[in-house]
Amino acid sequence: VGPIILHLLYTSVTPYTTLPSVLLVGPSGSGKTALVTLFERGPASPDHPEPAPTHTSSSPSSTELSISPSHTYKTDLDSAAATSTKKFLLIDTPGHPKLRSSAVLAQLRSPEASIKVPHSGEKAPLRAVVFLLDASTLSSDDLLPQTASYLYDVLLSLQNRFHSRKGSRAPASVPVLIAANKMDLFTALPASLVKSSLEAELGRIRSARSKGLLDSGVGQDDITEDKDDGWLGGDGSEKFKFEQMMEFDVEVEIIGGNVIGDGPGVDKWWKWLGERV
Ligand code: GDP
Repeated sequence: VGPIILHLLYTSVTPYTTLPSVLLVGPSGSGKTALVTLFERGPASPDHPEPAPTHTSSSPSSTELSISPSHTYKTDLDSAAATSTKKFLLIDTPGHPKLRSSAVLAQLRSPEASIKVPHSGEKAPLRAVVFLLDASTLSSDDLLPQTASYLYDVLLSLQNRFHSRKGSRAPASVPVLIAANKMDLFTALPASLVKSSLEAELGRIRSARSKGLLDSGVGQDDITEDKDDGWLGGDGSEKFKFEQMMEFDVEVEIIGGNVIGDGPGVDKWWKWLGERV
């Protein structure tokens, strides 16, 4: 009964009828489906032969999860819904990567921090974005630029949200977790290297794009129309650093983990979510 009452209390004080939501994005093959499945069903391990599910309902692309911020993922599994204090929706937007990203990016750019719940049409308050990537293939020549350019678009959309605020009211901030997955594999870059590789690549993309805009003859008026100049992070900074996103109230954290195999697991991601939903 406890969680239900809390849930009702919670929803009655927000203008939304839906739960707070977390958007899961990332290149295909990064493990999004595997992560959603794990959160939904719990891990199959000798410790947890029949783990209590952390979810109460799901559709193909939005999964309702219960979280107790003081607990680790495993504790939440053991104690199940009885001690859960918060519920949230994990929204994965299926479909072709290109379609998926343009629809998602448009929503991230909008000043209201909300996201359409797939299939229901309702809007849920957006509390956080999880960008999942495959740390075991990140150093490859193709995948680093691909992953970084997707991340660039996500971060730039959130940055532009900040500019689109109405009046003096800043839009609610939406923090980003860069979840560096597949840490069970020996080829996986540690989180610190994932961070520095991405920063270097985001910096490269940033200068290439600003050069491209100039070369393409896009007028200054066109560029500044909605203060969207395509430049990620602070003006005048030579190197891109994730900390620069704080200027736009976008907190970015990189945490390693793994959905499958032996490694740090998903505990730290779960905790990060618990602190933000
Ligand atoms: P999606 O395209 O982002 O939904 O990625 P999937 O969930 O389909 O995962 C892609 C592949 O990566 C699958 O073969 C998964 O089993 C595998 N995978 C996902 N997470 C991990 C992990 O933490 N470690 C390892 N070794 N493989 C993983």
